[in-house]
Amino acid sequence: MLKQNLHTHTSYDHGKDTVEEMIQAALDQGFTTLGFSGHGTNKPLAPTSMSSENQLAYKQAIREAKEKYKDQIDLFMGIEQDSMAPFEDDELDYKIGSVHYMCKDGRVEPVDDNPKLFEQIRDEMYDGSIEKMVTAYYQSVEDMMDFQNFDIVGHIDLISKFNENEEYFGFEEPWYLEAAFHAIQKGIDQGLIFEMNTGAVARGNRKTAYPSDALLQYMADHNAMLVVDTDCHDRKYLDCLMDESIERARKAGFRHLMRLSKDGFVPEPIENFQKEARVLNPKRPAGTGLKRPYLR
Ligand SMILES: [Zn+2]
Ligand SMILES: [Zn+2]
Repeated sequence: MLKQNLHTHTSYDHGKDTVEEMIQAALDQGFTTLGFSGHGTNKPLAPTSMSSENQLAYKQAIREAKEKYKDQIDLFMGIEQDSMAPFEDDELDYKIGSVHYMCKDGRVEPVDDNPKLFEQIRDEMYDGSIEKMVTAYYQSVEDMMDFQNFDIVGHIDLISKFNENEEYFGFEEPWYLEAAFHAIQKGIDQGLIFEMNTGAVARGNRKTAYPSDALLQYMADHNAMLVVDTDCHDRKYLDCLMDESIERARKAGFRHLMRLSKDGFVPEPIENFQKEARVLNPKRPAGTGLKRPYLR
């Protein structure tokens, strides 16, 4: 069985654990692939990002761990690159591109910090219009796709972090779907990979992974490439809601998930990431739509 997580943070940025602790947790939990994605240096804007010195130490720790654990787990050196601080580094195995900030008229604010600030951004920067704010968010995602290099679109739905119960907008609102679908289609056309991201679940803000059902369905219907990540800041939650999210992706119609290998990203049948499917019905071919005995 394959078990992968490519979105993890360590104490080099604002995670709780060392590289070593995260690897031990991954081994304990049966992971076969683990990628580190510390917040790339983005000071002073992002206090939680790595300092330049920490980024060097982070890379060195992962380099050493790759050698030490090469027979036990596939380790990868990534970065979560904020759209405000792009950079190139040939040594990285992959990059996650994420929009965390709203920028307008010289003002820059994080969209995912707390509901009060979220409302201030809406009211003070976007004339009280949630539609304007959300649309601007997805425009920033598209700008990042147009002008920056990365492999995985990080939590494309981050703008909905405080919207679990549709406090700010409906998940079926036409203007929301139009903006989000447009950004998703651009990512698909550019060959980018999307992630289901359970980070807001571990933090208690959401009950399900990003993205919302309609966005996930659009991705499935348009053959988007997908990974399932937990955006882990605490090794206790390294596989938080992972099995449930993979099953949600399968139900939406995904037949493959992308696995990071030494040769880059390769598609793997989604069943290979699902313990039950392999144990109870290992020969079931992908995509036949057959009912699974274990679900009855
Ligand atoms: Zn992020
Ligand atoms: Zn993250």
